[in-house]
Amino acid sequence: MAVPSEYVVTARKWRPQRFGEVVGQDHVTTTLRNALASGRIHHAYLFCGPRGVGKTTTARIVARAVNCAAPGDGIEPCNECDSCRDIISGRSIDVVEIDGASNNSVEDIRRLRENAKYPPTFGRYKVYIIDEVHMLSSSAFNALLKTLEEPPAHLLFIFATTEPHKVPATIQSRCQRFDFHRMSTRTIAEHLRTIADTEHVAIDDDALFAIARFADGSMRDAQSLFDQVRAFASGPITGADVRRSLHVLGDDVYFAITDAIAKRNLARAFELARTIVGQGFDIHQAIVGLLEHLRNTLTVRATGSTELIEASDETCQQYAELAQRFTQEDLVHMMTITAHAEQNLRFASQPQIRLELLLAQLVQLPTAYDIGRLIAELEHLRTQPPEPPQAPIAPAPSRRDDAAISAQPRTAPETEAPAQPSSVVPPAQLDWQAFVTSLPPTLKIIQPILARIPPPTFTEQQCTLACSDAGDAKTLEEKRQTLETHLAKKLGRSVSVEIVHSASAAVPPPAPPDPSPVDANPELFPIERALIEKFGAQRIAGVR
Ligand SMILES: [Zn+2]
Repeated sequence: MAVPSEYVVTARKWRPQRFGEVVGQDHVTTTLRNALASGRIHHAYLFCGPRGVGKTTTARIVARAVNCAAPGDGIEPCNECDSCRDIISGRSIDVVEIDGASNNSVEDIRRLRENAKYPPTFGRYKVYIIDEVHMLSSSAFNALLKTLEEPPAHLLFIFATTEPHKVPATIQSRCQRFDFHRMSTRTIAEHLRTIADTEHVAIDDDALFAIARFADGSMRDAQSLFDQVRAFASGPITGADVRRSLHVLGDDVYFAITDAIAKRNLARAFELARTIVGQGFDIHQAIVGLLEHLRNTLTVRATGSTELIEASDETCQQYAELAQRFTQEDLVHMMTITAHAEQNLRFASQPQIRLELLLAQLVQLPTAYDIGRLIAELEHLRTQPPEPPQAPIAPAPSRRDDAAISAQPRTAPETEAPAQPSSVVPPAQLDWQAFVTSLPPTLKIIQPILARIPPPTFTEQQCTLACSDAGDAKTLEEKRQTLETHLAKKLGRSVSVEIVHSASAAVPPPAPPDPSPVDANPELFPIERALIEKFGAQRIAGVR
């Protein structure tokens, strides 16, 4: 009753009527427009690509364009002349749409060939659009081939298929082929934004991205999901509404999982597994989703930008922060374990336990990050003055989750007692901590790194940053010039920034105390002891 009689589903209402309106297939529409402009129209086109990306829609536009009485720019169909209107309403006898799945016999094609002999009644071309052409029987293909070999000048075939490899080579070789692309989540979300704004539907970006992701490359599916969600929600539509309606896990669950991993909180991981299972989510989908989540995090870690993530700005920002909590090596390792779990799930009799096992493995992963960080911390302990009077040597963290990754709180003592060799002095006018806190948005990505690593050493012309993590070094390197510019602004003179990977770190360590404090007070250095036992003292010395 809420639906008025003239209610038209979004996919239909927003079906592109001109080449310029087709979304995400510019490589196809540009070529077709050029062909139309130059009058070089092929007699058979093969449109390949996944479902719901505009193959049939484009075929119909071509059919109208070649027959239009008054095409705009000589190319775009006017959609108003008699020919255009007949084709739009399905009354045209010159444009025939055939569903290859249900009209696939040799008789069907023979009938088609009979009709195709006669020239068009009104327009210039007789157009046959055959959808799902790969469904034709082989005898039907043979019958079709005869027409394709000697096509009458007035005949235009447009074949559409999701499975081009099933179309015989003899047919393919007589067609001009166009490959339609699967649409990106972002393209779909942006188009849905246009629709929502035009139709005054209050819906947030997170919701649109959730719909787009679920549609998996198909604009048509996205539009019908949009209708579905619209009918389901009463007020402004949020991402949570969409996920409830489509019964998909939210990003918040994945961020909660990686948070538990970073904090090594196994209890929390089990709790999340129970939530996923308890709410009836598909475990396979959950693991695939986690894999994608890790992949997104890795792309930010590796590239220093969120460009490769198809999500709302807010979610991208969350990824930028999350990426700083893991090393590249960690993330690759975590993805490997997760992909492996996904593969093995089909053989599992108790998928829930597999999910728990996966999360437990990830939580307990002895990460490269931790080792690197511990080594950096140990180095730092060594470079500190031997006996700071009011601050006893901080024991290395005894619980691994302390050592983990939420860097800010732990770096505070490091910046309070920086190890500065007496020969280089940081410029008096620069409070490094305040400088890091005040970085502009373009440098936000390196803020956690700068907060984490020891403060830089300065000479007149140079600021040297030393860090032990290769990923950190790479990210810093990418932002080096921006950092130089910003630093120059703060210092009132230009300074070149040097990034040193800790193997050759610029802060020279003081001579190791003799005897080693670890040997003297082993109970104060549980982790250093563990490292020595695990890697051997020599190995640790070599890290320097
Ligand atoms: Zn027209």
